[in-house]
Amino acid sequence: MNQPFIVRFAPSPTGFLHLGSARTALFNWLAARSSGGRFLLRVEDTDKVRSEQRFLDEILEDLRWLGLDWDGEPLYQSRRFDLYREKAESLVSSGQAYREGEAILFRVVPGRKIAYDDLIHGRIEVETENIKDQVLIKSDGSPAYNFCCVVDDTELGITHILRGDDHISNTPKQILFYEAFGVTPPRFGHMPLILGPDGSKLSKRHGGVSVAEYKAEGFLPEALANYLIFLGWTPPDGREILELGEAARLFSIDRMNDVQAKFDLVKLKWMNGEYIMSKETPTLVPLLRDQLRRDGFDFETEEEGRWAAIADLYKIRIKTLREFGSMVDFFFRDDFPVDEDGRKKHPEPPERKALLADLAARIEALPEFSAETLEAMYRAMADEKNIKASELIHPTRMAVSGRTKGAGLFEIMAVLGRETVLRRLKRNAS
Ligand code: GLU
Repeated sequence: MNQPFIVRFAPSPTGFLHLGSARTALFNWLAARSSGGRFLLRVEDTDKVRSEQRFLDEILEDLRWLGLDWDGEPLYQSRRFDLYREKAESLVSSGQAYREGEAILFRVVPGRKIAYDDLIHGRIEVETENIKDQVLIKSDGSPAYNFCCVVDDTELGITHILRGDDHISNTPKQILFYEAFGVTPPRFGHMPLILGPDGSKLSKRHGGVSVAEYKAEGFLPEALANYLIFLGWTPPDGREILELGEAARLFSIDRMNDVQAKFDLVKLKWMNGEYIMSKETPTLVPLLRDQLRRDGFDFETEEEGRWAAIADLYKIRIKTLREFGSMVDFFFRDDFPVDEDGRKKHPEPPERKALLADLAARIEALPEFSAETLEAMYRAMADEKNIKASELIHPTRMAVSGRTKGAGLFEIMAVLGRETVLRRLKRNAS
């Protein structure tokens, strides 16, 4: 990319950060960072009743969480009402706007065609016939969105505006204001909205609409950012796992696509699983413990090293951080739930209790207790009794973990420790 892109993200702090807005922010950031430009933040808080500080705080926090940084301080529209009024008055003076009571309206001259080359959709043309006179300042004294937007984007020297398709109808109106001020408009690119897999507007039933919901579910920011970027752009080399920094290196607007993006939770989970799996265990452990705390699990252990051992066993098995808690409860307590269905699915030999007692005795006698020595002992005992190793492994797994699936049994036992394993085997043997 040759010219540096001066872009902005302009959230209205009237709600939480929507996935669609997060994607808009990501693309503006990519455009700026890939071109050596600037990524600015503008807070569109002209609606003083609906705008709330807590929404703004959360939006900024979510942007940072996703890995986005912005240049300089955000600009607040609520602090610039005098400027907007002054600009509107100047258009009244030049005869391009007029007063109607307390309001100021822009006069749209019919019989013209407003045309621009959208960066994503190509040529877009609108007849001024179809645009009515535009409110600049409302009768309550507050400025209208389209007008502030043009005043601010001009002042900030914005070169490119990337935003959702929901703003396509605003763009010709904004172009009229640029003309009125004698300013060349920036380039516009409108991104198709994110739809649910069924083609309807993305909603809660598709898995959540705000960044906060995905954060709470245990999605990693790298995965969510990766996924959202791919809803609108693909890298030239066709890779699917691409962190932000790398995406910024490869980004170009001409690879943004104009097809409706469908949100696919299964794909996002897959991606999240890939990111979890590739995290270094020492980095992953605090994230998992944080998630456990937020989900109300009070797992504690004296030995810090156990966390790493457990994370190592499960990081290839979870798609979200949240899934971890219910899979690993048995490492921390003896009163874990037992999967009764699992027990029924795999009928256990009638001599189960005797086998467990025998296993306990052999484990007690093992000179060294490790995954390797346990495995060798199990195989030897199966040979000796002329049974399949699984006939020993399955009842042991049920006894020590309460479930039929999970990480490798011998690794699990090694992490549980000899004492715990014996206690659980004996409890099932009598
Ligand atoms: N506040 C507007 C929104 O959240 C910004 C629109 C724009 O980028 O111009 O949709």
